[in-house]
Amino acid sequence: MQPFTYLRAGSLDEAVAAAAKPGAAILAGGTTMIDLMRGDLAGPSSLVDIGHLDELAAFDTSGPVLRFGALARMADVAEDATLLRDYPALAESLQLAASQQIRNAATVGGNLLQRTRCPYFRDGVSACNKRAPGSGCTALDGETREMALFGASEKCIATYPGDWGTALAAFDTDIEIVSASGKRTIPFETFHVAYADQPEVETILRPGDIVTAILVRATPAGRHSTYVKVRDRQSYAYAVVSAAVALAFDGDVIREARVSLGGVASKPWRAPAAEAALTGQTLGEATALRAGAAAFEGAAPRGRNAFKIELGARAVARAALVAGRRS
Ligand SMILES: Cc1cc2nc3c(=O)[nH]c(=O)nc-3n(C[C@H](O)[C@H](O)[C@H](O)COP(=O)(O)OP(=O)(O)OC[C@H]3O[C@@H](n4cnc5c(N)ncnc54)[C@H](O)[C@@H]3O)c2cc1C
Ligand code: SF4
Repeated sequence: MQPFTYLRAGSLDEAVAAAAKPGAAILAGGTTMIDLMRGDLAGPSSLVDIGHLDELAAFDTSGPVLRFGALARMADVAEDATLLRDYPALAESLQLAASQQIRNAATVGGNLLQRTRCPYFRDGVSACNKRAPGSGCTALDGETREMALFGASEKCIATYPGDWGTALAAFDTDIEIVSASGKRTIPFETFHVAYADQPEVETILRPGDIVTAILVRATPAGRHSTYVKVRDRQSYAYAVVSAAVALAFDGDVIREARVSLGGVASKPWRAPAAEAALTGQTLGEATALRAGAAAFEGAAPRGRNAFKIELGARAVARAALVAGRRS
């Protein structure tokens, strides 16, 4: 691990000033950051600990815009009664992530910023454009079972691993950011970037930026929502594939559908073709399966990951049927 200085910020202003210094990085719950530093995958010269800033830890799910402070703990948000009733997809995405111990420490802001679990990135020695830009991508001719079907490039085929971000992508979500130059709010769909030419760039965050809140516009579709996660182990494992579905109905007819996919793309992935396949339809197994197949139109499998197409399509279909049954 490289030497670094540590600052426990006493206020957001102090954190913003410290984060603006070259080489600074943010520490929240630390469940990802410490691992990255120990593995020499991150080497900040100073660590700005924002983990004790109460002003960023609150969350409120009662208004027309749900507001989650970036430091709200995953475990607390996962157990919120309003979220469980009105936005089960969001609560479930947190319940199914990591372990109870990690969720107790980890924050919802930090969760969005976790890095890929590609083993060649994590091993610290293989050629990896994400860890060492320009060094190549070992995965291209290596083990591809976990790799992406969407949003990859010849420079990187790794997946984005988070569950919460996948579920947020099915809702109208914004991210609030502060830096020394002020506050800005951006749509969540532009927060993560597909890998393309610069696999080392994963979000639009600039040095010195601090995520302060996640904002979700209230919607009746939240009630008819769910998050389906398929993984190799029943607990403590990342998604092989996952799907969030949220539906709004006029009587029996689906007025609006939101579908997002996890475990299959370089970022949380909206599936507009699946949404179109559901909208205007009554929900049944045939419609759900059609939506699942539509979600994976244009998928680009490589080697051993082709099974994710059928598995993912069925995850979408299951999520649609479960979401539709909710009242
Ligand atoms: C064994 C294990 C299993 C896991 N399984 C899953 C899983 O199944 N699903 C899943 O979704 N996640 C999983 N995770 C990831 C876990 O949820 C994240 O580590 C956690 O949410 C990160 O939050 P944190 O507060 O600990 O972030 P930190 O570790 O403190 O920070 C993570 C990153 O975000 C940056 N950061 C944090 N907060 C901010 C902020 N407010 N503004 C700007 N930058 C910030 C940090 O600089 C760092 O780069 C797993 C993690 C582990 C260790
Ligand atoms: S897939 Fe991406 S993260 Fe994995 S080795 Fe290739 S460049 Fe690195």
